[in-house]
Amino acid sequence: MGRSDLISIIIPVYNEEKQIRESIQAIGAVLQKNSISYEFILVDDGSKDNTWAILMDLAASYPGMQVIRFSRNFGKEAALCAGLDAARGDAALIMDADLQHPPEFIPEMIRLWKTGYEIVEGVKSSRGREKLSNRFFARVFYDMMQRLSGFDLHNASDFKLLDAKVVAAWRQMPERHTFFRGMAAWVGFQRTAVSFEVPERPIGGSKWSKLHLFKLAMTAITSFSSIPLQIVTFLGIIFLLGAIPLIFQTLYLYFHGDARAGFTTVIVLLLIIGSILMISLGIIGMYIAKIFEEVKFRPRYLITEKLEHRGEEPK
Ligand code: UDP
Ligand code: MG
Repeated sequence: MGRSDLISIIIPVYNEEKQIRESIQAIGAVLQKNSISYEFILVDDGSKDNTWAILMDLAASYPGMQVIRFSRNFGKEAALCAGLDAARGDAALIMDADLQHPPEFIPEMIRLWKTGYEIVEGVKSSRGREKLSNRFFARVFYDMMQRLSGFDLHNASDFKLLDAKVVAAWRQMPERHTFFRGMAAWVGFQRTAVSFEVPERPIGGSKWSKLHLFKLAMTAITSFSSIPLQIVTFLGIIFLLGAIPLIFQTLYLYFHGDARAGFTTVIVLLLIIGSILMISLGIIGMYIAKIFEEVKFRPRYLITEKLEHRGEEPK
């Protein structure tokens, strides 16, 4: 690995017209100051504002920059896929467009990569200022993920540097609906972490809606664990164990001519079993929906425009 190792900087961009120019300047400044050779890959995830025009403009001034425009909003995960598919570097660095992944850490991440680590992960030392409810749901989700899949993703972020080998491994994973953080843990490889504090988003709010986060959580769980399905079986067994004494009691009462007692039990059982059956069906449904989504084999994203600035490295 020489000094001229090319780093592909992959950034998903969605409705960032107010922010993106400043972010690219800040990131570019760090890269140039440390004489890192790089290519920017900016993926416009179907922005509805002026983002694409700004990206084209940026591409004109950054040699080596690739800009890709989706036909609609496919989501950050899809944008990361497109970036990784287009990456030609010896390593790929994934970061957000809003400077919440501080570019000052890039030289350190590259240094670690050059010492032989194949994945360098940015780990959040604090989640920044975040709503209490978001913090709570994130916590519940990551606890669940850890228990179900065995991967500890607490404080994991999408700020990662991947060696070209890891990018190649990623390209072999065929699923349509990806969960970058989880899949980057699944692939293995030599890994290390740098810890960073999440700064406030300079302009505008988070682009994630609650529904999107919920969908991502479902994708994450269904693609990393089938334990929820086994929980259904487990509940069935528990109920069978409870049912056996009740069957005996019911028969006993019947033969003693006392069969009408126990009406309350019937109602309670009916309600509990009804709810558990519905939840169980829901869990099974979730996996079937997931299988359905996957077997359609639709592309992960569609590109309408793609531009590349071919030329000299920036001075
Ligand atoms: N993003 C995207 N598509 C989306 C939502 C977000 O490409 O549908 C990008 C966004 O432009 C940013 C990154 O994903 O570069 C993280 O988004 P954001 O800062 O809104 O999320 P948060 O910081 O709350 O995780
Ligand atoms: Mg952000």
